[in-house]
Amino acid sequence: MKSETFDIGLGNNDSKTRAEASSDYVMFWEKQAKKLHWFEPWQIPLEWNAPFSRWFVGGKTNASYNALDVQNKEKTAILWEGENGDRRTVSYGQLLSQTKRLANALKSLGIQKGDRVTIYLPMVPELITSILACARIGAIHTVIFSGFSAASIRDRVFDSKSKIIITADGGYRRGNTVKLKEIVDTAIQDLDFVKNVIVLKRADIKITMNKKDLHWGDAVENSPDSCDAERLESSHPLFILYTSGTTGKPKGVLHDTGGYLTHISATFRWAFDIKDSDVYYCTADIGWVTGHSYVAYGPLICGATQVMYEGAPDYPGPARLWEIIQRYKVTILYTTPTALRMFMKFGDSIPNSFDLSSLRLLGTVGEPINPEVWKWYYTTIGKRRCPIIDTWWQTETGGMMISPLPGLETIPLKPGSGSFPIPGVDVAVVDDAGAEVKPNTRGFLIIRKPWPGMLLTLWGDDAKYKEVYWSRYPGFYYTGDYAIRDGDGYLWLLGRADDVLKVAGHRIGTAELESSLVSHHSISEAAVCGVADEIKGEAIIAFLVPKEGVAVTDVLKQEVIEQVRIQIGPIATPQQIYFVSRLPKTRSGKIMRRLLKAMARNEKIGDVSTLEDGAAVSEIQTAFDELKKQLG
Ligand code: ATP
Ligand code: MG
Repeated sequence: MKSETFDIGLGNNDSKTRAEASSDYVMFWEKQAKKLHWFEPWQIPLEWNAPFSRWFVGGKTNASYNALDVQNKEKTAILWEGENGDRRTVSYGQLLSQTKRLANALKSLGIQKGDRVTIYLPMVPELITSILACARIGAIHTVIFSGFSAASIRDRVFDSKSKIIITADGGYRRGNTVKLKEIVDTAIQDLDFVKNVIVLKRADIKITMNKKDLHWGDAVENSPDSCDAERLESSHPLFILYTSGTTGKPKGVLHDTGGYLTHISATFRWAFDIKDSDVYYCTADIGWVTGHSYVAYGPLICGATQVMYEGAPDYPGPARLWEIIQRYKVTILYTTPTALRMFMKFGDSIPNSFDLSSLRLLGTVGEPINPEVWKWYYTTIGKRRCPIIDTWWQTETGGMMISPLPGLETIPLKPGSGSFPIPGVDVAVVDDAGAEVKPNTRGFLIIRKPWPGMLLTLWGDDAKYKEVYWSRYPGFYYTGDYAIRDGDGYLWLLGRADDVLKVAGHRIGTAELESSLVSHHSISEAAVCGVADEIKGEAIIAFLVPKEGVAVTDVLKQEVIEQVRIQIGPIATPQQIYFVSRLPKTRSGKIMRRLLKAMARNEKIGDVSTLEDGAAVSEIQTAFDELKKQLG
C-alpha cells in the first residue's frame, strides 16, 4: 500500500514495554494488572481452556473501587453539558458518594451479586453512577442506548432477565424530548421478573408512576453513603453489552472484571498519553462499547477529567462540537469517522472560527477512516500539531487492539492505517486456509493469543460464542474483518470480510472503493454494494451523499466515476451512482451495508433494531426499484 507518512509524536519512546510484551505476554499483562488495586492477589495469571479464558484467577478486585475510591476526591471527574445548555461539574468525591448511595438502594431492593440491572438513561452523570453502583455490589449492568425502541429494550431485558431497570422520565435529543419512562413501561409490560424501575428526573415532563416505580431522588437520598466495594473474583462478570448490529442480530457480549480493567487502563494510558492536566472528550454514547471502555471506565480508572455531553454533537448546529472543545479547553478528542465526515460536509470555516488550540491528540474508532477524512482531521482540526490514533477494536475485544500509542512511542503515522497491534496482543492476517498472507495482500484478521479484555462468552450462549469466533480457525479468534499488512508491517483495516465485492473475478473491498469516492471534493459519504450481473458476476452500485450546497449533475457523476477509474482502476467503475440525502446507519453511526446488499438481492433485510433512521432505507429502496425497472 502506498501512503504518505506523517512524522508526529509526543516525544515518548519506551521500547522496553514492547520488548517485555513479546518475551512473555502473560507476565507482561500481569505487570499491567498490578497497576490496579487488588484486595487479594491472584494465583494463576491466565487459565486458558480454549476458547474460554480467565485472567488473574484467585485475584479479588472491584471496578468501582478502582474508578473512584483510589482517586483524588477533589478532582473534577466530569464536566457535563446537556443538549439544552445545562451544565454541571462532578468531582470524584461526589461521584463516589452518589455511587455508594445508589448501590445501597439497589441492595435494599434485593439486588445481589450476579443479578442483572438494565440501564436506559441519556448521557447524564447518573448513567456513570448507575454503572459504578452495579459494579460496586457485583451486579451485572447492561446498558441500552437511550435511542432504542420499546421492542429493542424488551428483547434485551428479556435476554438478560434484569430485575431492575434504571431510566429517566425523559431525555433530550436533537431538541426533542424522548419519553424514556413511557418507552420502558411499554417494553416491560409482560415481563414479571422486572421487580422495580428507578426513575431519574431529567426532563420537564409528566410521567405516571406505577407500583414497581421509585424516584431516583428518593432511592438515593434515603440511602446511606457508606458502602464497601464487594471483593469480586477477577473473572466475575462486569457487564453484558449488545453489539452494534452492523452485520446481523446484536450479540450479548459478556465481559469480566479484572482482565477488562487491566486492558482498559493500559490502553487508555498508552493511546491517549494521559496527564493530570488533560481534558479528555470522547463523543461516544455509553450505550456502545466505546462509551463503556473509554467514557465510563478508562478515564475514571486513570483519574482523568472528561467532558460528557448529552446530545447530538451537531445540535443545534454543526458548530456545537467545536464550541464544546473551545469552552472546556479539550486536549484529547476521540470520535468516529462518521462524525468527522458529517462535520467535513459543512466546510472548514466553522471549525476555523473556534479556538481549538488546546487540542494535542486526536482519536478515531468504529469504522475504517478514509485517508481523505484523516487528513482533514489532521490539518483542519489538529492544525498538524496532533497525532491521530486510528484505533481498531470490537465490543468483543473490550478495548483497543490495534492503534498508534503516542503515550508509549513515536511512530510515523499513515492516514487510514491503525498501525500496529498493542503490546501483548498477537494478530495475523491469514488466507482461507489459515496461512499468513504475504505483505500487501488482503486477508482475514485473526487474534492468536488470549488477551485480557477478551469477552468471557456470549451471554447464555456458549455454543454461539464458539461458533461465531472460534470455529473458522480453530484455536484462533476470528474477527470477521478484512485487513492488509503493508511492507512496513502497518495494518490497514478494511471493514467486514463479508462486505467484499466480486467484480469480474476481482475482489474489491468496500472500504477502498468508498474512500476513493469520498476523496472527491464534492462528496461527503459513500456506500457501495454489488448487484448480480450476468457478465461480471457483480456490478457496483454506489450511493453518495453530496456535501452541503453541492449541485447534483451528470458532470459530477462523470467526475466521480473518472476518479475511481484513476485511483483504483476501470474494474472498479460503478455501474450506477445514486445521490441520496443520507445513508442507512446503525445508531452507533456505522453504515449498514448488509441492508443495501439485501435490498439489491430482494432478500429479507433481517434484524434492523439498531437502524438509526428508516427514511434512509426508503430513499435507497426507491433507487433500487428504479434500477430494477431499468434492468427489466
Ligand atoms: P455486529 O457485530 O453486531 O455486526 P459491530 O461489529 O459494528 O456490530 P462493534 O463491536 O461496535 O459492533 O464494532 C466493531 C467493528 O467495527 C469491527 O469489527 C470493525 O469492523 C469496525 N471497526 C472498529 N474500529 C475500526 C477502525 N479503527 N478501523 C476499521 N474498522 C473498525
Ligand atoms: Mg462485530
